Amino acid sequence: MNSPINISLRDSIIQIGHLLAHTTNVAQTDDVFDVNYLIDFLAFRVGQEYPAIPCKAGCSQCCIDSGLPRTTAAEWAVIYVYLKTQMPAEVVADVLARNERLHRSQIPLLLQEQERIQEPLSKTPMPPIGCLECPFLRDQMCSIYPVRPAICRGFGNFTLRLPGRDPSVFACQMAADTLLEDLQARQIAGLELPAWNKFIEKVYALNQAFGGVAATLPLWLFSHLTPDGHLGDNWQPTPDFEALIS
Ligand code: SF4
Ligand code: SF4
Repeated sequence: MNSPINISLRDSIIQIGHLLAHTTNVAQTDDVFDVNYLIDFLAFRVGQEYPAIPCKAGCSQCCIDSGLPRTTAAEWAVIYVYLKTQMPAEVVADVLARNERLHRSQIPLLLQEQERIQEPLSKTPMPPIGCLECPFLRDQMCSIYPVRPAICRGFGNFTLRLPGRDPSVFACQMAADTLLEDLQARQIAGLELPAWNKFIEKVYALNQAFGGVAATLPLWLFSHLTPDGHLGDNWQPTPDFEALIS
């Protein structure tokens, strides 16, 4: 990702668009057949083209303000293996404790959120979940950065098109405003960012092979706990989330 790029961003977007059609997995192969690889590449190219975008290492406000990323079972599979095999046990314990503290009382609302999450581009309003902080945020850093969900990779670098609405920068308001102000200052007409829709739609399409379920990270974590509160040994692509309140 660090090699010089000699083609325009527009051509990169077109080429990656062609490659997207041939992707076979999300978060598994780390090559051109992996949707996340293509998202990361485009985010890198967008950062080169628009250096004013403020999404840099250390900025984690979106993980606090809107840190309940829609995460497919395909992505959870990779995160789960990371937790079981890569993350130190004391960090896993800390993440689980954070999840309990931040989100246990919100499970009924998180279950309401499920219907919305099953649609990759739903524009239904979110239920009034009080705390939106991601359980994986530790010391202002993402503790699962190498395996973070696709939506976390794309946020800040794409445009989003929802039915009946104008396209918008897929980022926090501050990032969108900063980017647009920079374009104005540099007298650049027209912002050219890749479209998020087709990437997230592809993630959801590939997730069908895993049972098609998507959920927030707190629910994935709660659904994989043992009775004594540890991360269980069995990964489940289609847990019974409703059982969490029965
Ligand atoms: S979207 Fe906003 S809060 Fe998130 S990393 Fe970018 S600038 Fe920071
Ligand atoms: S998974 Fe990581 S990047 Fe995504 S919201 Fe959580 S802390 Fe932020």
